[in-house]
Amino acid sequence: MPVTATPIPCLSDNTAWLLRDTASGEVALCDPPEVAPFLAALEQRAGGRCDWIFLTHHHGDHVAGAEELARRTGARILGNAADASRLPRLDLALRPGDATPMGGRMLDTPGHTRGHVSYWFADGAVLLCGDVLFAYGCGRFIEGTAEEMFSSFRRFDALPGNALVCCGHEYTEANLRFCRSLRPEDPVLAEAAARVAALRAAGRPSVPTTLWEERRANPFLRAATPAELLRLREAKNAFRG
Ligand SMILES: [Zn+2]
Repeated sequence: MPVTATPIPCLSDNTAWLLRDTASGEVALCDPPEVAPFLAALEQRAGGRCDWIFLTHHHGDHVAGAEELARRTGARILGNAADASRLPRLDLALRPGDATPMGGRMLDTPGHTRGHVSYWFADGAVLLCGDVLFAYGCGRFIEGTAEEMFSSFRRFDALPGNALVCCGHEYTEANLRFCRSLRPEDPVLAEAAARVAALRAAGRPSVPTTLWEERRANPFLRAATPAELLRLREAKNAFRG
């Protein structure tokens, strides 16, 4: 039985995730930057249970709630051993390629930060990709290069199209404005913009999307070379749309 993922909006535009393993009953959070909305979500959706806190990278808007949530719920924190010195205290320090609790696997996905990792749960097709891949966008190369981000995207090539892209921010509308500035006549992007506008107007998250959708519509994921990815990222940085 699969892992399911529910987006938990937090801070101004972050998205953390609540995972449930429907076979074992285990519950996890990914990248909680604060405490209150997660205690409420755990209470409402999981009877207060939380077994694990998965971390993708060390930025405060992804980790600041982790230690207090672990204290309050008994959850154990897991993340990339190579980045342990700047992550919250890890109860389980893993290396990319390792199996994770709840049937997942840690993937090495640098580019946004050096130690950024993603998590893939094949049973449930859940991809926790933090600030590497966004819906119709990608993360900034804060500590990494276009080559690293490009190679991280290539790790996703092996995953199926139905993979749910569970990313770390609600940037979708702005990302689509940039995409449509590149391809104003593209009906796929027009349809996506209408769908996302309706979700946001209803107060609902726009994520997850799927890898299938990103492969056909996300110019960053579609970039053929690191140089093209770099050009796109620089154009997005300068874009005021
Ligand atoms: Zn970040």
